[in-house]
Amino acid sequence: MAYLKYYGHSAFELYVDGKKILIDPFLSNPLSPVKASEITGVDLVVLTHGHMDHIGDAVEILKNNKNAKVVAIFELANYVGEQIGDTSRAIGGNMGGPMKVDGLEIALVPAVHSSPIGAPTGVVIRSSEGTVYHAGDTGITMDMALVGEIYKPDIALLPIGGHFTMDPVEAAKAVELIKPKVAIPMHYKTFPVLYGTPEEFKKRVEEKGLDTKVVILNPGEKYEFKF
Ligand code: ZN
Repeated sequence: MAYLKYYGHSAFELYVDGKKILIDPFLSNPLSPVKASEITGVDLVVLTHGHMDHIGDAVEILKNNKNAKVVAIFELANYVGEQIGDTSRAIGGNMGGPMKVDGLEIALVPAVHSSPIGAPTGVVIRSSEGTVYHAGDTGITMDMALVGEIYKPDIALLPIGGHFTMDPVEAAKAVELIKPKVAIPMHYKTFPVLYGTPEEFKKRVEEKGLDTKVVILNPGEKYEFKF
């Protein structure tokens, strides 16, 4: 069954259409229940941007999982390809229409943030079992309404910690723009500077009376879905 598993910070394992996808696998974060060396059977590693708390342990995972490919914005995908010594496993694209990868559609979408390598992005992963939008690190932007309108994500993974990204106030507004069936908060509690809490996010979404369910995952927890 399709699922999302949370590893703390912005790191998720997504399993759809028989593919195991690691998104922003910073598994050396203090809240992660697993180590990068324990991760096997990976098909794709998807990265939103070049900050180290998002590239995370991608290089180690790709070195250990020889069939796995990295998908990211062009410059970042190439950089990681060079780090693993195999650029043929780097699928670099850019913001625009989705890339067709292993039977999935993966679209890079705008994120309002910074990045030392390439531009920062969010990512939409479309499969026959559902569409997941991982917003990466971002402030709020009206572009999210377009992501909602075009891709109709079933699940939106949204940063809520504040300081570097949206906090619960902006993230609740983002839910209003995106209109997903399910919203899952991320990028909180890893470091003291991230003050936003999932409880406040949930409360603020519920106050808006939207048709979106907030699901809070503790690191190591899995959310199974069928839409
Ligand atoms: Zn960042």
